[in-house]
Amino acid sequence: IQLPNMDKSITVNGLRFSPYLDREQIAAEVKRVASEIRRDLEGRRPLFICVLTGAFMFAADLIREVGITDSSVAFVRYSSYEGTQTTGEVKQLMGLKEDIEGRDVVIIEDIVDTGLTACKMMEDLGARKPASLRFATLLHKKESSRTGFVPDYVAFTIPSDFIIGYGLDLDGSARN
Ligand code: 5GP
Repeated sequence: IQLPNMDKSITVNGLRFSPYLDREQIAAEVKRVASEIRRDLEGRRPLFICVLTGAFMFAADLIREVGITDSSVAFVRYSSYEGTQTTGEVKQLMGLKEDIEGRDVVIIEDIVDTGLTACKMMEDLGARKPASLRFATLLHKKESSRTGFVPDYVAFTIPSDFIIGYGLDLDGSARN
């Protein structure tokens, strides 16, 4: 007999997903990463750059947890995925209007997989002369790296499986 709510698996676009990280684990690691960022940027005026769309939830929780009042938030959008496969080609979909010269920038991303998107962002934003440039990610698929890119802040290092929820999608769905 299958009791209601016993199986928390969900099916999205015909693919079955099982629970991996729960609310409490996420909250605890967000708190840890926030304290690392606070330690590094206390007394500065950080500019948090949230990478849309996947990082919006992580960024909202992380920035509040960091708690530095004299900080600002901006958004950029990149995309390299179709379905569950990387296309290998990184495109910038939406640029940044803010002047980041001289600012202490923290990029906030949902996941680093091959690292191609992260490298492109570090290159693009680094060229705009920030005082410092750091990279925070909720998830890091260390084994999938094609670039050797190492984020400054990582909430979770995970295996190379496809993951959804807490902002991450499957073809636009299931971010919640
Ligand atoms: P990379 O350029 O590092 O290969 O890929 C980074 C982007 O790929 C992420 O911003 C995200 O949009 C997408 N991505 C990589 N792995 C996953 C995953 O497991 N789930 C989801 N939803 N997106 C992923």
